[in-house]
Amino acid sequence: MTSTAQKSAMALIVAAGNGTRAGGGLPKQYRRIGGEAVIARAFDALADHPDIAGVHIVIGADQEEMLAAALDGRQPASVSPGGATRRDSVLAGLRAIAAHGAPEAVLIHDAARPFLPAAVIDRLLGALETQPGAVPTLAVVDTLVRSEDGALGDTVPREGLARVQTPQAFRFNAILAAHQNWPEAHEATDDAQVARMAGLVVAAVPGDPMLEKLTHEADFAAAEQRLAAGLIPRTAMGFDVHAFTEGDHVMLCGLKIPHTQALAGHSDADVGLHALTDALLGTIADGDIGSHFPPSDARWKGADSGKFLEHAVSLVAAKGGVIDHVDITIMCEAPKIGPHRDAMRQRVADLLRLPLHRVSVKATTTEKLGFTGRGEGMAAQAIASVRMPDA
Ligand code: MG
Repeated sequence: MTSTAQKSAMALIVAAGNGTRAGGGLPKQYRRIGGEAVIARAFDALADHPDIAGVHIVIGADQEEMLAAALDGRQPASVSPGGATRRDSVLAGLRAIAAHGAPEAVLIHDAARPFLPAAVIDRLLGALETQPGAVPTLAVVDTLVRSEDGALGDTVPREGLARVQTPQAFRFNAILAAHQNWPEAHEATDDAQVARMAGLVVAAVPGDPMLEKLTHEADFAAAEQRLAAGLIPRTAMGFDVHAFTEGDHVMLCGLKIPHTQALAGHSDADVGLHALTDALLGTIADGDIGSHFPPSDARWKGADSGKFLEHAVSLVAAKGGVIDHVDITIMCEAPKIGPHRDAMRQRVADLLRLPLHRVSVKATTTEKLGFTGRGEGMAAQAIASVRMPDA
């Protein structure tokens, strides 16, 4: 749990919903769009903001594994179980945060709103300097009418109406007290209602159309398209060779394969992972494995090449890249790759955090020709396809 004097705002993501009406078989907050889970995108927007010290998450019963898979290694400040209603869940989350020491402010956010601009957070925290609460709102631009049995009813004047989004920001102790004092017989659909019931003034700041909640299947399709429209495909290859030396196994695609010889190298000499690491570095035009992990550096002696690959993955992710597919070809007369192929694919998929169907491992001999054919060493080629912002 991060806790600093300067950063006294915490975020609370409410992810306890079980709704699967958007399709995909998972509660919508755990579905992926553009390769990232919906909740992971919301998490990053909050966690990456310099004025937010940590992100607490409230989840539904039995959602621990879904959350861990969705967060892909991201670390929430804490996670706690929600309640029967959204209001119960928020109160549970506020109490869990308070147990670690009450912050000055809290931003309460719906997990199903993944596209949260930092500017909205800036506006909310700015408003909290003078008001106990603040919410992002959007003007209503469509004509509003009452709809009765499929027939158009009276027009509702839209002047003075606004649509309310999240995150909703509050001074922490004020919103905790408001939730604790809420009359149980009533329900509230958001925290601004709870705050106002307690007599707190809630400021309206400009929201953002990007912040719309993902509710229906069409919302997911639109979000995928919007993400894809901003990304361009890039393809890059890698190639590597290591010579055989004395030994009893080789490392190939992260697996220890028994063999009558070993591969010589400064690291663990995993030709498959070296070729793939270079392919990924190629997609971001960021040098090669030798420039990131020079053989002259004692730190990489005997190194697990999975670490090289994970570093390349983190560099691609830092540029906003999404890995679509990788394909590795191993060239040797022996050992036989076929019996290990599926385990290699799974290992590479785990290292890349990709589903198995996006990872291919192939093998070929070179018909006894050349250095691989003479059994002097092994070679590998890899190709990686990614999409990333053109910047
Ligand atoms: Mg190498």
